[in-house]
Amino acid sequence: MIKAVLRTSLGQTVVLLGLSGENVTRLMADEPIKVNLAELGMPPLQIAIVGGRTEADITAQLEQHFGPLPFTCPRCRRISHHPDDKRYGYCGHCHDYTGTPGGTR
Ligand SMILES: [Zn+2]
Repeated sequence: MIKAVLRTSLGQTVVLLGLSGENVTRLMADEPIKVNLAELGMPPLQIAIVGGRTEADITAQLEQHFGPLPFTCPRCRRISHHPDDKRYGYCGHCHDYTGTPGGTR
């Protein structure tokens, strides 16, 4: 895996991750690839990368490895951990059904 950190001319940080064939094989075998940004001199955040044919496949994989995912409103990006919000795609901040019922957004 190629890992690098770049800073743009605007001062933004870009983390580059280049996955080789071996890692792509792992992704297709439903194995998440984890990267700890502390290895790159960044704050100690961990990133998990998964692959799948559909968003439903990816959600199922993530929930298998990390537990239930919260609902993220696709309009305002607020996150809700309430199971009913996820079930109905409802955002309490927008007071509207903005998401896909049963989805994570
Ligand atoms: Zn919202």
